[in-house]
Amino acid sequence: MSRYEESLLYRIRHSSAHILAEAMLERFPEAHIAIGPPIEEGFYYDFALPRPATEEDLQWVEARMKEIIREGHAFAGREVTPDEARAYFKNQPFKLELINDLVAGRVDDNGNKVAAPADKLTFWTQDTFTDLCRGPHVANTKQINPDAISITFKSPAGAYWRGDENRPQLTRIYGTAWETPEELQDYLHRLEEAKKRDHRVIGEKLGLFTFSALVGKGLPLWKPHGAIVRDTLERWLRQVQIDNGYLPVVTPHIGKLDLYKTSGHYPYYKDSQYAPIQVDDEEFLLKPMNCPHHIMIYKS
Ligand SMILES: [Zn+2]
Repeated sequence: MSRYEESLLYRIRHSSAHILAEAMLERFPEAHIAIGPPIEEGFYYDFALPRPATEEDLQWVEARMKEIIREGHAFAGREVTPDEARAYFKNQPFKLELINDLVAGRVDDNGNKVAAPADKLTFWTQDTFTDLCRGPHVANTKQINPDAISITFKSPAGAYWRGDENRPQLTRIYGTAWETPEELQDYLHRLEEAKKRDHRVIGEKLGLFTFSALVGKGLPLWKPHGAIVRDTLERWLRQVQIDNGYLPVVTPHIGKLDLYKTSGHYPYYKDSQYAPIQVDDEEFLLKPMNCPHHIMIYKS
């Protein structure tokens, strides 16, 4: 476990995700709940909702979370058998799928791949809400400062169940939680400042580059001033490498699929790569990294 995972802040955020789900189920009793882990600066929870959530829903849910926190509910864990877990979540299809995968040893309860099958599962309950979870949590919601939490939609507001675009699209609600209201205010202030310094906005304003919907998202078109900055950086980078004894080589941007099967990159990184390019009867891959090409140079 990392130091963050052992910290009080981590437990506060993890527990806040459960409280978010509790409040969301009060607002949307027919919601299906997916998973809700703590993340770097907060937490999130994914939901399948009967209608799109609005800013008004979010305000209601945040206010309700603060109430639940103030009420002072204990977090209580208990072991359950797979059958008890299935019975409890009989109307929650995502939880049922997770339970079945946990029992089969396909995933852990954060959706990560594991090998060992689970014969006992852990439930954690606070107030009216129970989740399939290993913890850790705070002992009591009173350990969370209600004025140090905040929830929001982020862009993109949607997420696919298990990151699979063929599975249902879910509404992801992000939250952040800190130990003190001052830390929360600092964090929100940092976000505002970062927004003002967003390189995509500044770069367009300074005329360094532009984006075109027709060209595609995330594909910058460098204008002359931007190209000068880019070229200056490239020259600097090349010189630093040469000064440190590196010798440049140049390799193509694509390579045969067999190259990546040989290197072992394919199929293990298949999900994070573009589909192969078919040319005549051969398949090529946009190179995900340089090393397979470089090894061929070494072998030569
Ligand atoms: Zn939990």
